[in-house]
Amino acid sequence: MTARILDGIKIRDEMFAELKGEVTQMTAQGIRPGLAAVLVGENPASQLYVKSKIAACEQLGLASWLHSPPANVTTEYMLQLVADLNNDDNVDGILVQLPLPSQVDSKRVLEAVFPAKDVDGFHPVSMGMLVSNRPGLVACTPAGCMEILRRNNINMEGANAVVLGRSDIVGKPMALLLLHANATVTICHSKSRDLPEITRRADILVAAIGRAGFVQADWIKAGASVIDVGTNKVTDATEANRLLANFPQRLEKFRAKGSVLIGDVHPDAVNTAGALTPVPGGVGPMTITMLMSNTVKAARLRRLYGRSQPAFVAR
Ligand code: NAP
Repeated sequence: MTARILDGIKIRDEMFAELKGEVTQMTAQGIRPGLAAVLVGENPASQLYVKSKIAACEQLGLASWLHSPPANVTTEYMLQLVADLNNDDNVDGILVQLPLPSQVDSKRVLEAVFPAKDVDGFHPVSMGMLVSNRPGLVACTPAGCMEILRRNNINMEGANAVVLGRSDIVGKPMALLLLHANATVTICHSKSRDLPEITRRADILVAAIGRAGFVQADWIKAGASVIDVGTNKVTDATEANRLLANFPQRLEKFRAKGSVLIGDVHPDAVNTAGALTPVPGGVGPMTITMLMSNTVKAARLRRLYGRSQPAFVAR
């Protein structure tokens, strides 16, 4: 039996429609949520990401501003820019597109963003709020994975959940979110022993390691729900042939294009998993969706907890 496909594009469209309604309602009350994006230099990939984020704002009726300092910007300039955005009451979310040039102290810049406007959820205060399950802004990719699970009615309570990867932006927050949803969570990383034995116990498996097709089909328990966060561009023909041997149409596309996007889970897992996010079209579309959702959430929470407060602090 082939796995049920957990379609991220469908959920993105659903959530965009919901967010659009919410933004229209807020705007009618005189609150127009707004996102300020900071894009340093002219990295084409970053330009593309920021462009699609601004386009999403426009689609949903959010205000947006783009600040584009040159590649030779200093840390001091960036800190002043972030301070100005922190103090601008029209701005609900601040997005500093990474990577920053090497002369800029990225950590200092990211930590200067008010946690109340930290729509990427990377600030240590945002992480702390997540650890203690308080209202705050959660990193977009793991928050998007949770939406996929919830909106597909995948039971998390009491489920054995295994998260492969422990990065601050995906693995760790993902594990915490699953824990708060009452799953029994195991986190694995590059030093974990006997991964297949651990993954075979998972009712929910989240793969976020950055290695194409690493999780083999027989590492997955029959019927498990698999969230594949990995987005790996494969350009090597031998590797593509190995990964896509059972998918002649995709192999054909690879031959025409010279590259293919493969998740961290082997494509053959579609024959063992009960439900599976495709790559592309699974987790990917959820990341921008959750950025939009976080901006709307930040606008609401700032009004609830005090608009000039650096963080959400219960009164
Ligand atoms: P990362 O910072 O490089 O972290 C990778 C994690 O995987 C680390 O914790 C590492 O363990 C672990 N790992 C690496 N090799 C392993 C192995 N052989 N066995 C077990 N664990 C292993 O990556 P990331 O930023 O979390 O991203 C992970 C993947 O998700 C990447 O493919 C990335 O492109 C993708 N991603 C997609 C989206 C999206 O929107 N779809 C967003 C973000 C990321 P150690 O800690 O021991 O080194």
